[in-house]
This record gives sequence, C-alpha cells and structure tokens, in this order.
Amino acid sequence: MISFSEVSKRYPNGFEALRNVSFTVETGEMALINGHSGAGKTTLLRLIAAIERSTTGSVIVNGQDVGRLNDAAVPFLRRNFGLVFQDQKLLFDRSVFENVLLPLQISGFESKAAVRRVRAALDKVGLLNKEKARPITLSGGEQQRLCIARAIVSRPSILIADEPTSNLDMEYAKDIMAIFKSFHQVGVTVLISTHDVELLGGTPQRILTLSHGELTG
Ligand code: ADP
Ligand code: ADP
Repeated sequence: MISFSEVSKRYPNGFEALRNVSFTVETGEMALINGHSGAGKTTLLRLIAAIERSTTGSVIVNGQDVGRLNDAAVPFLRRNFGLVFQDQKLLFDRSVFENVLLPLQISGFESKAAVRRVRAALDKVGLLNKEKARPITLSGGEQQRLCIARAIVSRPSILIADEPTSNLDMEYAKDIMAIFKSFHQVGVTVLISTHDVELLGGTPQRILTLSHGELTG
C-alpha cells in the first residue's frame, strides 16, 4: 500500500511542487497520475521511490515511512520497485538481453536463473525475438518496452512509470498501457503518470489528477 498524508514538497530554490497531497493506493491497485506539464507528477513518483523526500507530511510504502528511512535502508525499499523514469537510459553498447540482465547481475543473481528471468521479462513485453539486437535498432515503442522489461525483471511488487508513453504514437502508447495492465492483472501495484488525457478514456482504473501541485480529483 502507498499512502500520502498531507504531503508537501518544496525544492531548495523555494518552489513548492506539491501542496497538501493526500491519497492511498491499495496493494494490487492500478492508478494513473494525470496533470499538465509541471503539475508535480514526477515529484510525486520520486517521493514514493525515496529519490526525493517530502518537506512536510508522510509517505508510507508497505508500512514504512519512506521520508524517515536512513540512507542505508533506501536500497532495501527500492527492491520493492520497478522504476521506469526518463533519466534511466538504456545501454546502447549492450544487447537487449544484456540491458535486462544487468539489474539481476547487480543483485548477484545466479546466472542460469537470471537467463530464465530475462527471457520471461522479454517475453512479457513482446521482445523475445529481439534479445540479440542493439537497443538503437529498436523503434521508440520497443525501447520503452525494453525499459519496462528491465524494470520488472526483478519481479517487483510495485511498478512506477513516469510518462512512459510520451514521445509515442497513440497506437504504441496503447500497447504500452496494455503491458502495464497485464502486470496489474497478476497483482502488481501500478502507478503511471501521464499528461495524455486520450490514454485515460474508457479505462476503469483509478485516476488521480494533479494541478499546480494540488490533488484536484
Ligand atoms: P510534472 O512531472 O507534472 O511535469 P514535476 O514534478 O517534474 O512536474 O515538476 C513540478 C514543478 O516543480 C515544476 O514547476 C518544476 O519546474 C519544479 N521542479 C521540479 N524539480 C525541481 C527541482 N529539482 N528544483 C526546483 N524546481 C523543480
Ligand atoms: P516506429 O514506427 O516506432 O518509428 P520504426 O519504423 O523505427 O518504428 O521501426 C519499425 C521496425 O523496424 C522495428 O521493429 C525496429 O526494430 C526495426 N528497425 C528500426 N530501425 C532499425 C535499424 N536501424 N536496424 C534494424 N532494425 C530496425
């Protein structure tokens, strides 16, 4: 469960990016964070992953007060997360397979099991036939799917993606959303930010709307 209670975030330059934000996303729920550019969506997601800390209020993830974690505990918190953030670049000098393998290597996974997991992750995003390819040869939508495979290969219980469909044509954006829904359907808690209202239409999942740092719906 992810719970914000009267959370405000003021950046060091004095700008208040979030003001008095409260909401709860239950375990296994899928929620979309919608709002204009600059509304505070990225800030909100960064607070959940303890990339930033709130100025006031509490951010609780799986019963832990993320803002009060000491630095040594942050990596343990992050093991719960698959993160798809725009500043996480693919490694263009490695293959698709190696890009997804890397997080497992870092956590010291035994190699045979790792290979199986990488293939399973690539299969889930429809990239198994591209495992030997270099990321540069993939389309924009395929590169985004690769980022998702890399995020979920460690089987996180919470998947967080910041504007995963930006820069994609609507057709590809819908494919990406379908992939997130498939993880939601197997019990993963999914939080996705988007400024694209077209993507929200006709979908039953929860929508949280931010405007100028405040939750308006
Ligand atoms: P969104 O993801 O909805 O576009 P952000 O959370 O990225 O919104 O940004 C919200 C506001 O906070 C913006 O006005 C942005 O310029 C500002 N902001 C973001 N990061 C910083 C920072 N490190 N220092 C100062 N202001 C920031
Ligand atoms: P998009 O319509 O998203 O831009 P592309 O036209 O770039 O997609 O790519 C269509 C297909 O061609 C994709 O499957 C992609 O992997 C493949 N492809 C694109 N560029 C290259 C390349 N330089 N070398 C090999 N395959 C490529």
